[in-house]
Amino acid sequence: MTTDVQIPGISSPVPTGVFIGGSWRDASSGATFDVLDPADETVLATVADGTTDDVTAAVDAAHAALPGFAATPPRQRGEMLRRAFEAMTARADEFALLMTRENGKATADAKAELTYAAEFFRWFAEEAVRIDGDYRVAPAGGTRTIVTRQPVGVCLLVTPWNFPAAMLTRKLGPAIAAGCTVVVKPAEDTPLTALLLAQVLAEAGVPDGVVNIVPTLNAKDVVATAMADPRLRKISFTGSTEVGKILLKQAADQVLVSSMELGGNAPFVVCDDADLDAAVDGAMLAKMRNGGEACTAANRFYVQSSVADAFAEKLAARMGAVQVGRGDDEGVGLGPLVNEETVAKVDRIVQATVEAGARVVTGGTRPSGPGFFYPPTVLVDVPAGSAAVVEETFGPVAPIATFSDDAEVLELANSTPFGLVAYVFTQDLARGLRLSEALEFGMVGVNRGVVSDPAAPFGGVKQSGLGREGAHEGLAEYLSTKYVSFPL
Ligand code: ADP
Repeated sequence: MTTDVQIPGISSPVPTGVFIGGSWRDASSGATFDVLDPADETVLATVADGTTDDVTAAVDAAHAALPGFAATPPRQRGEMLRRAFEAMTARADEFALLMTRENGKATADAKAELTYAAEFFRWFAEEAVRIDGDYRVAPAGGTRTIVTRQPVGVCLLVTPWNFPAAMLTRKLGPAIAAGCTVVVKPAEDTPLTALLLAQVLAEAGVPDGVVNIVPTLNAKDVVATAMADPRLRKISFTGSTEVGKILLKQAADQVLVSSMELGGNAPFVVCDDADLDAAVDGAMLAKMRNGGEACTAANRFYVQSSVADAFAEKLAARMGAVQVGRGDDEGVGLGPLVNEETVAKVDRIVQATVEAGARVVTGGTRPSGPGFFYPPTVLVDVPAGSAAVVEETFGPVAPIATFSDDAEVLELANSTPFGLVAYVFTQDLARGLRLSEALEFGMVGVNRGVVSDPAAPFGGVKQSGLGREGAHEGLAEYLSTKYVSFPL
């Protein structure tokens, strides 16, 4: 049996069941799994371990709710989202605390995420009433065409653990605005934020069956079952490229509309004419926001040779000064990473890169004791092709290599199968524009260490994904175009 969990600092008990058709249930098997606090590895909550039967029941509920919800006046759907935005904002500190407890992130990161996450509900509340179509005249005359947009249908939303609120609201906001119904499979490390969000959405008036949530340890079978259900029309996934490829293959069987936000390997380029202090500020954001556990995190730094030593020294001083500890402790800038697998991977990448010839300037050693902690780490003299450059580290590690001219740095930056985001620091705007046009990435931050914004079309090229989230483009992913042709 699952019972709602009372977490100190959160005013109402957090649901721990499977949420289907507007009601909370145990998993059909009765099984549960534990959610750990990554700061001390104690059990934070015990959550229903949803089954393939549960996900089928969730698709039943979403399918039954679809016609009514698709026909809901857009203003009403927008108002649901606006009320959810207001509820999240009113409970911002509680949501932030919950994210810190299940994910580990520092309070400042959790609060920033909550603001960003809630903003997707506000943005799409405003977009719901602006879904439009048009009226066209055939070139030969006579025929008229009315172009209209309809909700795609039942969607499966699979989310990661690094931004438990924002990665979900970025999908839920447009889905609800468009009139789609959804089944959510949250990440197993961080299901609680999604479950609390489901409660907030129900209180905001989202009808039963529109949003269903199936937490599970058995992602593989639960997701595959939903993907094989002929009533499903769309998959929206945020996670690793490896899993994204599996899901794209499964999506092919039913030709599902597919949106994929996959891995990144972001280069952070510092030119010799950059304002170095601004570049270090940007680097701290691009690298240390969310402890480096972001697909947008700067993964490799390329600094023009003449300023490389100065940049490394300044960055190491700032990184070394970050206080590491429990995310909710006063003054802490870096909490634990989410789980053992993640911290072990970071440590392996650092050790392999050092063995390949890199030098540690700060950090570089995993502390002993409970909790999944890793210190802010700066590596210099990082060889091309080493683990820290090739793999997505997903942790607080800044590997620095040098370059001599723009052609060289473009070659280095683009030599990856990934293409999510790149960062460029230069005071020469034309140079910044030239570089950003030649960088093979879906997003480029010029003199900025963070690019995410609800009004910007977030997404990557190459193996970083398909489709865009946020902005008008994000809504279009949940709409299909139909036209009606008739003679006059
Ligand atoms: P990460 O490496 O960030 O944990 P994953 O791609 O493994 O990213 O996980 C992202 C989401 O995909 C999570 O909700 C996870 O449960 C889910 N997932 C993992 N493996 C599979 C799979 N084989 N099929 C479907 N979903 C999966």
